[in-house]
Amino acid sequence: MQQKTKINIIGAGISGLTAGCYLQMNGFDTELFEKHSIPGGLCTSWEKGEYTIDGCAHWILGTDKGSGFYNMWSELLNLKQIPFHHHDERLSIEVKEHADKYGSKVFHVYTNCEQMRTYLMDIAPEDKKVIDQYIHDIKVLQEFETPPLMDKLPLIPSIIRGIKMSRYLKLLFILLKQKKQTNFVLARKFQNPFVREGFMNLFDEQEVSMLVFNFPMAVFDQKSAGYPIGGSLKWSQRIADRYTELGGKIHYNTPVKKILTENDAAVGLLVRNDVIHTCDAVVSAADWYKSVFDFLDGKYVDDKILRLRDEKEMDLYYSVLLVTFGLKRDYKEQPHFIRFPITTQLESPCGTKWDRLETHFYHYDPTLAPEGKTVMACSFYTKNGQYWIDLRKNDRKKYREEKLKFIASIVDRLEERHPGIKDDIEMTDFATPATIYRYTNNWQGSAQGWLPGDKMLSKPPVGFLLPGLKNYYYSSMWSRPGGGLPVAINQGRDVTKYICKQFNVPFKTMKVEQK
Ligand SMILES: Cc1cc2nc3c(=O)[nH]c(=O)nc-3n(C[C@H](O)[C@H](O)[C@H](O)COP(=O)(O)OP(=O)(O)OC[C@H]3O[C@@H](n4cnc5c(N)ncnc54)[C@H](O)[C@@H]3O)c2cc1C
Repeated sequence: MQQKTKINIIGAGISGLTAGCYLQMNGFDTELFEKHSIPGGLCTSWEKGEYTIDGCAHWILGTDKGSGFYNMWSELLNLKQIPFHHHDERLSIEVKEHADKYGSKVFHVYTNCEQMRTYLMDIAPEDKKVIDQYIHDIKVLQEFETPPLMDKLPLIPSIIRGIKMSRYLKLLFILLKQKKQTNFVLARKFQNPFVREGFMNLFDEQEVSMLVFNFPMAVFDQKSAGYPIGGSLKWSQRIADRYTELGGKIHYNTPVKKILTENDAAVGLLVRNDVIHTCDAVVSAADWYKSVFDFLDGKYVDDKILRLRDEKEMDLYYSVLLVTFGLKRDYKEQPHFIRFPITTQLESPCGTKWDRLETHFYHYDPTLAPEGKTVMACSFYTKNGQYWIDLRKNDRKKYREEKLKFIASIVDRLEERHPGIKDDIEMTDFATPATIYRYTNNWQGSAQGWLPGDKMLSKPPVGFLLPGLKNYYYSSMWSRPGGGLPVAINQGRDVTKYICKQFNVPFKTMKVEQK
């Protein structure tokens, strides 16, 4: 019997797990090496007392039909067995200057396009043309299965495939058009000052391509972007279970130190306690920087990689300060996710300042807190995650003190907004960029790899290969700007297709029955 090709995978985040599943489906013999004691990487949750803190999924694209990602997740999971919560409102934004015609300063963003159209028309009938165009821009994205899975049709003659693919030229045109439309550009088209201010604040006063907003909106509208009840770790655990069912093996608590090479080909991994695991090929699904500059000592690089390292090619995605509270009341009357202005600016010791606070009440997930209680998280995005990483490394005492000070300043501002909330706090947790780095090794604590910016549609910044190195493949959220769970599964699937081609194996997938 011919021996199977042996592939060692680094990292049991969603990218590593999904790559592992698809490689197993295609007859490769894989083993996964993970530094942490649990699967999931960034897609995680943790317990503190009677509360569960969620570190990731507010929503996952493709949890039901109507998105190309559904086809992928259903190759790995029985989605019908997973309870999802679908939000009616994606977010609420309290604006500073103007109120709507009913006197409310809260701008609502509904997940249902028609509800959003009705809401906007009610407030701003004078802006009918802009509103119709805005809703159209979202709905037109629903005409396409994104990403298109053409491998589902292997027997279709190439000419028909060509015609099918040519439809996607239209999508490309739409994407390029929408890419130029930022929330600021769109906001300025509205005459109504309240709606204008609402759109200006979609991304916390930042200017971002509307595509970043519209693409998920198209999926929300189809009720295919649910939040998995039970939280992110359960989601990751389900994929880890699928991987082991397919015959894969996971080594937890096994940090990889080096990728071993011979004659410029990857031949194995050096892990904890200097144990060597040989193989025919390596897939790294761990942090991009670590993979290139630590595991391989920066020996296989080109100018582009060096520009990425020097942050001249792309901007890093923000890191996150995630402060979570366990509250002894369920706060069901509060919107699940609202961003509102604060009277005194909040400043982190890393130098980042915020004029707004966002509160995320998880009262829609009863599994995270005992009955009558809830979990509430405040997230803060920073470009200076490295400050926290260095502080924790160099001065643990100050790190702890700064954390406590930051929490206290948030509690003060929460108390202004919700008098009495201070007394309801039973649990406090603060995950800093140093926490992200400690548990996942992600460079500078980045939460989603690279920032999409205006490079969202350009060539992937990090390819499958490294120059001059054979039998090494790369696949993770760092492969595409914006990262996220859909990128992770898409990459895991695509890298498998690529490896299949290299080893002359016809790519195949196995659907899990959805019932
Ligand atoms: C606060 C927050 C909220 C988010 N919300 C969403 C959301 O709502 N929807 C969404 O789609 N995405 C969201 N994301 C992004 C999403 O979590 C990530 O993009 C995705 O999980 C990345 O998966 P990955 O496998 O590519 O990387 P990672 O999760 O970073 O996995 C890499 C794995 O490699 C392991 N590793 C690293 N170094 C080594 C080593 N030396 N040896 C062995 N193992 C190693 C790590 O421990 C980790 O398990 C969020 C992220 C954060 C931080």
